[in-house]
Amino acid sequence: MRLYRAKLIELLTDPGQLALEPEHAEQLVGQMEDVIFGYGYDIVLKRMPEERPRATVFGPTHTMASRELVEGVIVRRYTALARGGTVWSEMPCCSRWAHLKADPLLEFAVRCQPCGLDYTAVLVDESDGGYLAVFTIEVDEAPVMSRRRPNARTIG
Ligand SMILES: [Zn+2]
Repeated sequence: MRLYRAKLIELLTDPGQLALEPEHAEQLVGQMEDVIFGYGYDIVLKRMPEERPRATVFGPTHTMASRELVEGVIVRRYTALARGGTVWSEMPCCSRWAHLKADPLLEFAVRCQPCGLDYTAVLVDESDGGYLAVFTIEVDEAPVMSRRRPNARTIG
């Protein structure tokens, strides 16, 4: 039974209210529902809109602790210009680097395999000829990579 039905029946059978017999109260609630549904309305459970917490942003000089490297966190990192219209960007998680095309219109999918982190990265033109890399942590759990099993015998 829908939760509101029990509450309505309780109200209708209340001696201080209409004091209906339970079966009559139930019948009445059913008839009211028939009217509501008959006019194309529905009674639905209202859900509270999920509070979307504002993203946590860490600056380029912040050394990330592993507990800070969670989904949705934004990390800014300095980049160094490289040959062929590319930049090297520091990674948010470790001392490795991401090699990116120097194009602020592109969005990069960056994975740090040893750290087990996936990012979306964009470059922001700093209007001084350089770029700032903005990483958003996408998945803080790396998929398991398939690998060759040493000394494995063929199954079957
Ligand atoms: Zn890493």
